Amino acid sequence: MKILLFGKNGQVGWELQRSLAPLGELIALDRTTVDGLSGDLSDLGSLRATIRQVRPDVIVNAAAYNAVDKAESEPDLANLLNGQAIQILAEEALTLGAWLIHYSTDYVFSGQGQAPWRETDTAAPINSYGMSKLAGDRAIQASGCKYVILRTSWVYSVRGQNFAKTMLRLAKERETLNVIADQIGAPTGADLIADVTALVLHRLIDQPELAGLYHLTASGEVSWHDYARDVIGFAKAFGEEFVVSTVNPIDTSAYPAPARRPLNSRLNTQKLRDNFSLHLPDWQSGVIRMLREVLNK
Ligand code: NDP
Repeated sequence: MKILLFGKNGQVGWELQRSLAPLGELIALDRTTVDGLSGDLSDLGSLRATIRQVRPDVIVNAAAYNAVDKAESEPDLANLLNGQAIQILAEEALTLGAWLIHYSTDYVFSGQGQAPWRETDTAAPINSYGMSKLAGDRAIQASGCKYVILRTSWVYSVRGQNFAKTMLRLAKERETLNVIADQIGAPTGADLIADVTALVLHRLIDQPELAGLYHLTASGEVSWHDYARDVIGFAKAFGEEFVVSTVNPIDTSAYPAPARRPLNSRLNTQKLRDNFSLHLPDWQSGVIRMLREVLNK
């Protein structure tokens, strides 16, 4: 099996390089051109030519325009990378009869209510990033290609920047932190996403009827505020020292940002767990593991 991976150096892409390797020949690209192969999602012609040259059995796309606030001022670029480029991947996957595995986000939903979003719920994004990601999802679904879309949330990894690492840094610099307490979701490790992707792909070969849209997060839920408090608490338990003494809960409205954020980022993962017989661990266990690695404890 030949697997073509885009976005190899992102949080999820990096972990995919590990988890996909045992499944077949892996050709992993970032946005640079190597040996005539281009993984730049903004260059649609080269993207198409690359797929035609490689002729993969599976395309896995972990590349994305992920700058949520910046997307408000450059929606065209967000749409190019998260929408139009994904359409090219889907068209080429269809032509080749290849699988397309792609990642999407809780930000396709409005964030209203308290119930975890199901795959069948209506998407209604409230910011440009969410709209661009939804455009990608819809392009894949309309294309007729064989696909799996995994919608996830609040991704972290040892590599790259993320909320938990930012909190660790700020807790060493400031006595007081103000953290949003009315957005609820599930921190999800890039390693878990990559491992589940490999398991899903392995099963798809024998059971192509499992294709479709799935929600994938770690189990449980937490606010950004409690997440920050727990991260600092876990790190303290490992012997880290901080200057922070208070972590204040604040409302989203008290932290103005260019992009609106959904308050309810809960995703219902029942469909994925049932169809693929998977257990999704609680979010704390993955975060603790990541912290131990980051802190070398
Ligand atoms: P990262 O931001 O860590 O990685 C994204 C990758 O995309 C980076 O390696 C980046 O490359 C690459 N990229 C950006 N622009 C281009 C381009 N023009 N051409 C090719 N590559 C490009 O993202 P994650 O690993 O966290 O996200 C993986 C998936 O999960 C994405 O689909 C994302 O939308 C989704 N997701 C992420 C969430 C999160 O909290 N991070 C939450 C929910 C869903 P470079 O390093 O060169 O900039």
